[in-house]
Amino acid sequence: MSKEQEVKEETEIQKESSEEVVEKQILEPEKPKTVKKKKDEKKVFSYYKLDEESLTRLRPFCERCGPGYFMGDHGNRHTCGNCGFTRYKQSQE
Ligand SMILES: [Zn+2]
Repeated sequence: MSKEQEVKEETEIQKESSEEVVEKQILEPEKPKTVKKKKDEKKVFSYYKLDEESLTRLRPFCERCGPGYFMGDHGNRHTCGNCGFTRYKQSQE
């Protein structure tokens, strides 16, 4: 038969298989990446506020990525830049 039809079918099969891969990637929990080396120490330090002799943690860690993954402050919520996890701040009065 026509080659066009065959090509079309092949394309659809490839599309389906690629979608499966995407689904699996979403279902698998994100694993924390290997601990980074000394190069990033300064960057991490910028997230701490040096208050006399005590270090105050300004931002919470991501609950999904674990310690070391700081969440960005977005006003009424914190968002993890690594996995996109968002946690709304509890109202404090
Ligand atoms: Zn995260």
